[in-house]
Amino acid sequence: MGEFDLIRRFFQRPVRRAALGVGDDCALLAPAPGMQLAVSCDMLVEGRHFFADVEPRLLGHKALAVNLSDLAASGTAPLAFTLALSLPRADEAWCAAFAQGLLALADQHDCELIGGDTTAGPLNICITVFGEVPSGQALLRSGARAGDDIWVSGHLGDARLALEALLDQHPLPPDLLAATRTRLEAPTPRVALGLALRGIASSALDVSDGLLGDLGHILKASGVGACIDCSLTTPLIAAYADIQRSDTIFDRDFLRLCTLAGGDDYELCFTAPAAARAAVLQAGASSATPVTRIGRIEAEPGLRVVDGEGLPVTTRFASFDHFAG
Ligand code: ADP
Ligand code: MG
Repeated sequence: MGEFDLIRRFFQRPVRRAALGVGDDCALLAPAPGMQLAVSCDMLVEGRHFFADVEPRLLGHKALAVNLSDLAASGTAPLAFTLALSLPRADEAWCAAFAQGLLALADQHDCELIGGDTTAGPLNICITVFGEVPSGQALLRSGARAGDDIWVSGHLGDARLALEALLDQHPLPPDLLAATRTRLEAPTPRVALGLALRGIASSALDVSDGLLGDLGHILKASGVGACIDCSLTTPLIAAYADIQRSDTIFDRDFLRLCTLAGGDDYELCFTAPAAARAAVLQAGASSATPVTRIGRIEAEPGLRVVDGEGLPVTTRFASFDHFAG
């Protein structure tokens, strides 16, 4: 199977909304009048972002999911994407499974593959995604204001819990490993929530590097500070692992590390005026996405973390030092 066979067999499909798709020197998109084109790019590198033996179907899903997550964070609707693929060899079974995972998620979001590049080399996947948003309505990191509520979607920490277990650092019972591993390997981009938050959220981003660091980007871009209650950020497994059991599996500080600085969550963190609480809850309900209010934007710079009793959580974790100032 040569390069062009591979492209034709696995990645070339009839165009739908694009003016021109795979097969020419450039693809052509035709954004509607009054819309802005949103563009984002994320690369996945073997050994850094995924294990060499990860299921190719899941890898295809995740490569697009992390890109769609950026569109979600900006409140833009997916349009199309390109795929730059470096492959050690043209393995048909691998390509078929990868394309299946990739294109299933693409179809779910009506986001069409319009071009790319294919070369031999170390396994590396780079996707550029395009979305559209009415001019001026994209959600940005810079809009948070003192007094706004801070919200997160879904649950935080599952991916890190799975990663630690897969690295034999903090083992998990098989059922909990399976549940968290799905969150690590097949994250759900919160596209519908991002769209529903247009005109409601004052700022937003997706949590890919850990809540504290990522919220720090909003604070910096908006020139504000914040206080969050870390007892309100729970991993999904907390929803069905009874407390007794989870206490025996994880200590509190490890759970906090996973939820506050875990990484690979692909949830949205956003702010909205307190007057918009009902609208935020409605956006969560209409997009079938849980949303939790975890804190408040303050005028005083810096990020303060408190526990469920309101007591300051001090420097147990390296990342807290880093983000406290
Ligand atoms: P070029 O002549 O510009 O180098 P290529 O020979 O790399 O183009 O690719 C031929 C066509 O196939 C182009 O339209 C390109 O966008 C598309 N293409 C290449 N690799 C992929 C891929 N992995 N997925 C989708 N389209 C691809
Ligand atoms: Mg060309």
